Amino acid sequence: MSSSVALRLPSIDGLLRHPACAPLAERYGRDSLLTGLRQLLDELRPGVLNGQLSAVEIGAEVLAGRVGERLAQQQRSQVRRVFNLTGTVLHTNLGRALLPDEAIEAVQMAARYPLNLEFDLASGKRGDRDDLIEGLIRELTGAEAVTVVNNNAAAVLLTLNSLGARKEGIISRGELIEIGGAFRIPDIMARAGVRLHEVGTTNRTHARDYEAAIGPRSGLIMRVHASNYSIEGFTARVPTAELAALAHAHGLPLLEDLGSGSLLDLTRWGLPAEPTVRQALLDGADIVTFSGDKLLGGPQAGLIVGRKELIAKIKKNPLKRALRVDKLTLAALEAVLGLYRDPDRLAERLPSLRLLTRPQADICAQASRLQPLLAEILGSVWQVSAVEALGMIGSGSQPVARLPSAALCCRPQVSKRWRGRYLLNLEAALRALPIPVLGRIDDDALWLDLRQLDDEPAWLAQLPQLQVDR
Ligand SMILES: *Cc1c(COP(=O)(O)O)cnc(C)c1O
Repeated sequence: MSSSVALRLPSIDGLLRHPACAPLAERYGRDSLLTGLRQLLDELRPGVLNGQLSAVEIGAEVLAGRVGERLAQQQRSQVRRVFNLTGTVLHTNLGRALLPDEAIEAVQMAARYPLNLEFDLASGKRGDRDDLIEGLIRELTGAEAVTVVNNNAAAVLLTLNSLGARKEGIISRGELIEIGGAFRIPDIMARAGVRLHEVGTTNRTHARDYEAAIGPRSGLIMRVHASNYSIEGFTARVPTAELAALAHAHGLPLLEDLGSGSLLDLTRWGLPAEPTVRQALLDGADIVTFSGDKLLGGPQAGLIVGRKELIAKIKKNPLKRALRVDKLTLAALEAVLGLYRDPDRLAERLPSLRLLTRPQADICAQASRLQPLLAEILGSVWQVSAVEALGMIGSGSQPVARLPSAALCCRPQVSKRWRGRYLLNLEAALRALPIPVLGRIDDDALWLDLRQLDDEPAWLAQLPQLQVDR
């Protein structure tokens, strides 16, 4: 092309009137289209001026196509569904528990219509949002009273601040835990205005250690469930009942942060035992805190249950207002708690429990079924096998317990120095699918744990789009 023929970008007005742009205006709105076109033209201008672009590259159809792609990209939601094939069922980074249909319907109702969030329909007077679930919680845990906040971290913060501010909180050194970076018991205590009084040692703490710490400045005794690690070997821990007796003999409340906390004994479904809220209260804990979206299987929330006068004090704390839950959470929580009234059907109806109790034979059969299909897509560079695997509950429940499961194990058949790159590429290709697929890399292989693959058709349908080095 002769350099004397100066190329010019189409005008904005001309583009807006062009038939290729009309459907974009219709779909995304004229303002968005205009902004998109302006940005694109600004980016192309230097290339036109220095002669790097051809007439075809700045044709109206081509420009409309490029703007259309960008607008589609921008319109796509940032909150995206994924396939969690990591093997961790209650995965904090992937949203933890999945809600049952009953809760989803309740959330829709609460989102769509006005509701009696803080309105007592019997008396016609102002109500309290905690009352909506108090009856159920009392029935399911034996607690006298309840209050609900945004998450369990908030529950711990609020409880400590309400009952122990400017006093000492006595806690075993073995329970000064960190849960996922930002949540550390000593930091939370400090922020709550409670002075940490640690007792005992990392592996062994005795009743006499607590007793020696009790004095005029004591405000409470705290016990924290060591959610994400376990201390084994030469250990000693004071049973809750004994600790409660000690606390009460000195007029102190005992707080127990159960973390996950279960409402029912999970061994009934063959799962590892997890302390129940009812048992902690029966043992004498005055306040028990636990999460809504861990083993409970509900929405993100923090439940504070226990003695009536202590709950009343917690509810009076102005921080409660800052940490309270919204109507959608309460609606979902009530629906989930309602399912617990029929434990016999819980494993069918509560998705997290259904997934946790899915039989290994079932998962193995699925792995064998899918293995040839994935092998075909990945090609001969990859060895794909259906193998037994070990998953975990996640979210700090039973850190050392493993869930027997099955996985598709993908090994690149390349020399050792290339393996890492192949694995990262496959991982990225799986993440780039319309519904991103998340597995885990371990032992020079990429593992897709199938425990949570219940939407097999959607998973299979997108596999042909996988772009991977063959
Ligand atoms: C998970 C956990 C928390 C925090 O609960 P969130 O609901 O994630 O805020 C606090 N304490 C313990 C012991 C936990 O396991």
